Amino acid sequence: MNRLRALSLALACMLTALLLTACDRQEVQTRTYTVGMEATFPPYEFYRGTEIVGIDVDILKEIGRRNQVQFKLEDMAFDSIITAVQTGKVDVVASGLTVTEDRRRQVNFTRSYAGAKQVIIVPEGSSVKGVDDLKKVRVGVQHGSSGDTYVTEHICEPERYTNGALAISAMNAGKVDAVVLDNAPAENHVAGSHGLIILPEAVVEEEYAMALRKGNDDLLTMLNLTLDEMEADGTLAAIIERHMRENTPETEQQADSMAGRLADDFRTDFVKNERWRYLADGLLVTVEIALAAALIGIALGFLIAVVRSTADLTGRLRVLDWFCRVYLTVVRGTPIVVQLLIIYFVIFGSVDISKVLVAMVAFGLNSAAYVAEIIRSGIMSVDRGQMEAGRSLGLSYGTTMRSVILPQAFKNVLPALGNEFIVLLKETSICGYIALQDLTKGGDIIRSQTYDAFLPLFAVAAIYLCMVMLLSHMLKKLELRLKKNER
Ligand code: GLN
Repeated sequence: MNRLRALSLALACMLTALLLTACDRQEVQTRTYTVGMEATFPPYEFYRGTEIVGIDVDILKEIGRRNQVQFKLEDMAFDSIITAVQTGKVDVVASGLTVTEDRRRQVNFTRSYAGAKQVIIVPEGSSVKGVDDLKKVRVGVQHGSSGDTYVTEHICEPERYTNGALAISAMNAGKVDAVVLDNAPAENHVAGSHGLIILPEAVVEEEYAMALRKGNDDLLTMLNLTLDEMEADGTLAAIIERHMRENTPETEQQADSMAGRLADDFRTDFVKNERWRYLADGLLVTVEIALAAALIGIALGFLIAVVRSTADLTGRLRVLDWFCRVYLTVVRGTPIVVQLLIIYFVIFGSVDISKVLVAMVAFGLNSAAYVAEIIRSGIMSVDRGQMEAGRSLGLSYGTTMRSVILPQAFKNVLPALGNEFIVLLKETSICGYIALQDLTKGGDIIRSQTYDAFLPLFAVAAIYLCMVMLLSHMLKKLELRLKKNER
């Protein structure tokens, strides 16, 4: 009876705590709004050091100041930005977002706050002189952008890149002949690289506005009223004008020799503006995620393996075994990128949860499936006689499993487990899909700022390689030690 009372007391406490946090969250949400943006879009949103700055950021700051609310910025892939606002992952999108009829069907737009146009960027001396010439060449665009839609519907099938800067790097590397992009970032990119020009003929005129989930009318009204006010008192124009004036990164004189150019590139890619920090910070995130995911993977994978082999060996735990098998089939049958996106956008869709945590869970759950099968194969590879011997000595099934079977199984599967961790470590490089700044994304940000693909990509590859070599070395040592214990 006493136990029952204690249990109900504990339950009541938990419920109250849950309710209190829910209320808390409600209160925070009325004051802090999350904003989705893709922060490689200067001068609207871009990184200065590790901070996101730009026209959209300043407009939001001003709206926040006037209404005593706060905006939390979320850098994310541009092609998931509309989904993010629809699913409630973010409250607003402010990302130099063009108003289009297709998008209007999915989301509500505020009034427009800036005019823009899609322009054509080409290498100096290109045969492309205007829109008509685009039909004959390879055109690069930013995936999911209004430029992408326009070119696809009216001109040709373009090559799609994650952002405008990467499309321009591709043009620098000779992969495409022209890039169609919004005029303001185009000007910034052209000023930042050598030998590129913007053609005078624009592809299409556009308007930028912020986007909200349909039905989020209070926020929409607040944004519209404040944007009206800011237009009337000249603040809006002043913010845009100030950023446009600053929107010309200095181009540096290029060295003549190959070695000189490499040294210059090295300086711009890593030393200038402390860009090496993107790699260092990214490395930390990558290691954090991989470590946590490996732990989740081992723990859960181990449990699944034990359930499955117990079912195989003794015929018990049939129901649990069925669930485990379904889990393995689903996890191993679907790509990890899709799992990551589902976990982030659907399962944790409207929960304000750290992206690092989401990634740890996603990779952990995924790895568990592979670890489970590796460990199970280890258990099954131990001679059946060992179990029988243990049992006939009077040991229980559990004890025989724990002290006879599992240690041998573990030793057998160590190389395969090591392999799984190596794969896991490298697999985390897809974190950029949910705009997590891991090592790979760190390299992407550098590329988007310097338009140099070569050094950042090699640096990222070299860092992964070093980590994998270190991991292999440690695993080999562990294997040797286990072998020594055997004798
Ligand atoms: N204006 C373009 C669009 O809305 C690109 C915006 C961006 O890349 N941030 O599609």
